[in-house]
Amino acid sequence: MAVYRNFRDRIRIGPVQVATYYDGRGRNKHTAACTAPGCGFSADYPDRSAAELAARTHRCKA
Ligand SMILES: [Zn+2]
Repeated sequence: MAVYRNFRDRIRIGPVQVATYYDGRGRNKHTAACTAPGCGFSADYPDRSAAELAARTHRCKA
């Protein structure tokens, strides 16, 4: 996930950021990524609500 994408609609839920991006093949994708040092959680989801749910329920180990 080092490739730059146009993240938009970025929000923060606790330590986790949720953002939406266009995948270049006609679809939006949604990612949730924890910003806490040492955590490393990040995942892509096919819809926004799933990403936000993952952010809300993330149990940070950091
Ligand atoms: Zn975390």
